[in-house]
Amino acid sequence: MISSKFLALALAAGLPLSNALSIQERANITQTFQSSFSPGTKIYLASDPNFANETTQRWTVYEEPTYAAAIIPALASDVQTIVKIAGRYGIPFLATGGGHGLSTTLSKIQNGISIDLSRFKNVTINEAASTVTVGGANVFSDVFETVWNAGKEMATGSCACPGIVGATVGGGVGRLQGLHGLIIDTLVSVVMVTADGSLVTASETENADLFWGVRGAGPNFGIILWATYKIFDQTNGGYAFNADFIFPANESHNHWQALKEVSKNMPAELALISGINYNEAHGGLNILVNAVYYGPEAEGRALIAPFYNNNPLVSNTSYVHVSQLISVAAFGLFADTQCDKGKHVNTYTVGATGVDVPTWDAHVQNFTALYQTYPQARLSTAFVETFPNQAVLEADGSKTAVPQKHREITNYVFVTPSLPSLSPMGNFQLTTRENERKKRLWGYNYADPSIDTQINQFASSARTAFTATSGFEDLELYVTYAHGDEGPQTWYREKLGQLEQLKRKWDPNQLFGFMNPVPLK
Ligand SMILES: Cc1cc2nc3c(=O)[nH]c(=O)nc-3n(C[C@H](O)[C@H](O)[C@H](O)COP(=O)(O)OP(=O)(O)OC[C@H]3O[C@@H](n4cnc5c(N)ncnc54)[C@H](O)[C@@H]3O)c2cc1C
Repeated sequence: MISSKFLALALAAGLPLSNALSIQERANITQTFQSSFSPGTKIYLASDPNFANETTQRWTVYEEPTYAAAIIPALASDVQTIVKIAGRYGIPFLATGGGHGLSTTLSKIQNGISIDLSRFKNVTINEAASTVTVGGANVFSDVFETVWNAGKEMATGSCACPGIVGATVGGGVGRLQGLHGLIIDTLVSVVMVTADGSLVTASETENADLFWGVRGAGPNFGIILWATYKIFDQTNGGYAFNADFIFPANESHNHWQALKEVSKNMPAELALISGINYNEAHGGLNILVNAVYYGPEAEGRALIAPFYNNNPLVSNTSYVHVSQLISVAAFGLFADTQCDKGKHVNTYTVGATGVDVPTWDAHVQNFTALYQTYPQARLSTAFVETFPNQAVLEADGSKTAVPQKHREITNYVFVTPSLPSLSPMGNFQLTTRENERKKRLWGYNYADPSIDTQINQFASSARTAFTATSGFEDLELYVTYAHGDEGPQTWYREKLGQLEQLKRKWDPNQLFGFMNPVPLK
């Protein structure tokens, strides 16, 4: 850690101010930072040996942003100071929450400053108001521990480590969306720093226009330090039925058929995830399935009966308190193993309204060839989250910047190398010690960067195929799952015009323009 030497930081970054300002002016800036930051704020230059350990790193390094330095502000006023000074001198910056951002647009920031929000982590439940307030860098597992243990539930994502706010600001999808809507539909208010460095509250009654934009295009409008959400009484007394399956390749067609059947009139309490996976122990390509039902076990078993009929190689079921779900669901895949940073993961997604069996059959064939041709891609998987959307459609879509069509999505398809596969986990019968040892392999980059071109070709063509049978006329997707090349029309659809107007008002100089940006004409 170094002291607040802004000049050194700016010079290291090769930032515009090094040419634009006189020595006296630079000295003033140094003083401005030093005198304005609270004592707890820390600055790490990228060259600092502690940089990787002390600052939040990225989940994927594919097309990642790069930083000359990271600042870990201690107080809201420190965030305001950074935004004001960086804005004044044209220094590019990006807020970092959980570090799980996927869009390749993030790579537009090079040698910038990461405003690492890791000091903004606090989960406070207000029982009387039935709300919870989280910090800008809290991750999903933080609420799994506190909100779930307090006997409440809220709309969240499915994995442990993405930032709650980072997910929220694009919409936020998860297993409970059939009951509570998108995460954004449960957002009550935010406290954020806007482009002019002001600290403002946004809610339906205060800065309502900004609040509308935050709910779907959030990273375009500021840095959220605290966000307050509705919480609910736990469904089914806080217990859920969890079922995991592994099917061999020759049951693949039957699985997509079963998925189509099970998801046809899906109850709001059911959530399904299916993935194409590679594991020598299971004959190479295999299909992994996770089903969660927030209801009695017998009802859950009946709903997913078609999966049991398909001769799984492995099936593992349990009836658990929801606070335990993250450790058991999908053999624990969504817990800490998805938190490791520094993987080379390149995601492409498509939103669909149903399951098209021939498209999945063809995709399995293509994945078989991919695994054969590129053994180094065998730690890759494609998967689909099949989530109900009753409450997503019931919510008043005009209150958010999420396009109405995106609320119709019930199948979030990751067409190509996305989550690292389960292969290192062997046959799931490992002892705890073996598990720990194998888990370290999760740091492994799933794909060799030298095959990026081939992977991108594979992915683009898969995206086209899934789009053609998605139930939509064009490519529709959840913006936070975007690859980054789709463009603002696809990300924001009919909301784009209003978002442009908002951008002109709240961020005319486009300081917040690195995550699926809303362009200004
Ligand atoms: C393994 C994995 C699992 C996922 N599971 C889900 C899921 O179940 N449901 C779901 O909806 N999404 C999920 N996602 C997608 C995830 O929501 C997005 O990738 C999201 O952008 C991650 O936010 P982050 O804070 O972790 O990432 P970061 O890379 O830190 O941030 C991503 C973007 O959001 C901005 N941002 C982050 N925090 C703030 C803040 N406090 N204020 C303003 N802007 C902020 C950043 O500036 C950046 O532009 C998953 C992603 C991964 C990699």
